[in-house]
Amino acid sequence: MKLVHVEKRISNEKVRLVGIVQMDNLGQEIELYFEYPQRFADFVIESADAFVPALLLPAMERGENLEIQPPISEKLWLNLRLIQDIIYQWHPETFKKVQVFAEKPSKYEPHSSNKVGAFFSLGVDSFYTLHKHVNSISPNLPHISHLIHMKGIEFPLSYYRDNQEQEVINRIKDVAEEIGIDVIFGETNIRTHFPLKWGLHYHGAGLASVALSLSGGLKSVLIPSTDSYKTIFHWGSSPLLDHWWSTETTNIFHDGSEVERVEKTAKFLDKDPLARKYLRVCLKNYGSETNCGKCTKCVRTMLPLYVSGKLNLFPTFPDQLPKNWDKILHINDEHDLSHAEAILELAKECDADPQLLTSLSSKIEYARYAIFFEQQNLLAAIKSIIYVFWIKPIIQQIEQLLGQPKIQRLQDKLQRLFKPA
Ligand SMILES: [Zn+2]
Repeated sequence: MKLVHVEKRISNEKVRLVGIVQMDNLGQEIELYFEYPQRFADFVIESADAFVPALLLPAMERGENLEIQPPISEKLWLNLRLIQDIIYQWHPETFKKVQVFAEKPSKYEPHSSNKVGAFFSLGVDSFYTLHKHVNSISPNLPHISHLIHMKGIEFPLSYYRDNQEQEVINRIKDVAEEIGIDVIFGETNIRTHFPLKWGLHYHGAGLASVALSLSGGLKSVLIPSTDSYKTIFHWGSSPLLDHWWSTETTNIFHDGSEVERVEKTAKFLDKDPLARKYLRVCLKNYGSETNCGKCTKCVRTMLPLYVSGKLNLFPTFPDQLPKNWDKILHINDEHDLSHAEAILELAKECDADPQLLTSLSSKIEYARYAIFFEQQNLLAAIKSIIYVFWIKPIIQQIEQLLGQPKIQRLQDKLQRLFKPA
């Protein structure tokens, strides 16, 4: 895979950064772009940096070496080996390590701008980052000067129909106006050409490529966190990964991992009038003014609000949980499991309805074993079944008869033999 040319084009009141890429197996060239209103023309530099994160993961997925012919940042280039090491360690089944050839890596002078951008989608993570920086939860936080919202990032461009993004754009404008900061609305086709799994693989690299396409104007760009430091997953955007995409001119920060998503929702955004008015997590009814309240993403966000008695503060959601919420909430992997466990913790802290606590606990317990079985070999799975259905009930009965301390050693031995890791 080869990036052969980059070009900054201005026409029809738009500025477009274009990269021409030759694909090894297609025998043809494709044109990647990042496009913004013309008033941001100075933010867009004719540099190849933005295309490096956009191309590295697709090259690794195909096992193709990557050649970058136009000049790129030396700092970014030097970090590409480390970035590949992290991605390969996390997903060896999907990505291979490849050679990256950059013909002209050069050390840039840091620019004098102190402008800070933050990705913003009206969701929990981006509202928390905005809330934290605008309300100065801790001192010395940089002031956000620009929100960034890109068409073609949340979904590939082919997803959008009938200008459905306009409602979302209008509400982001309202938020920015109320706070008195600017918004950069842009568009990119990187997901059209590279349909990698967004959350798991491409999330951080995709956002980093957008950040670097604005490096002429932004000194720093904040990527709102998905997870907390407590539970760092092998995820496309991560506090272990995002900052390595920085250059001498633009620093990329993963922001907000100091709290869990559940806490962001129920302990911070409940105090933010703009979040209460505009919070949008639902991907099912993109473009609508409200959240559907019936999909797993909605239910996952409504649960912490419901158990803490704050759901009625958020008019973009229905004021009641759907009756079948426990069937709607999906716990398919360790990522989902960690979110569900955090909701359960909060529910216990808030003395939530016992029936809800029981349903959620059972669902989590069931999901834990389902996920465990998926990851284990047959012998380990059989041992786990024996533990759950025979050994654990026997231990509990002996414990009731003799008291816990007397059977501790026996219990430890049985657990070592049978209990799932
Ligand atoms: Zn929904």
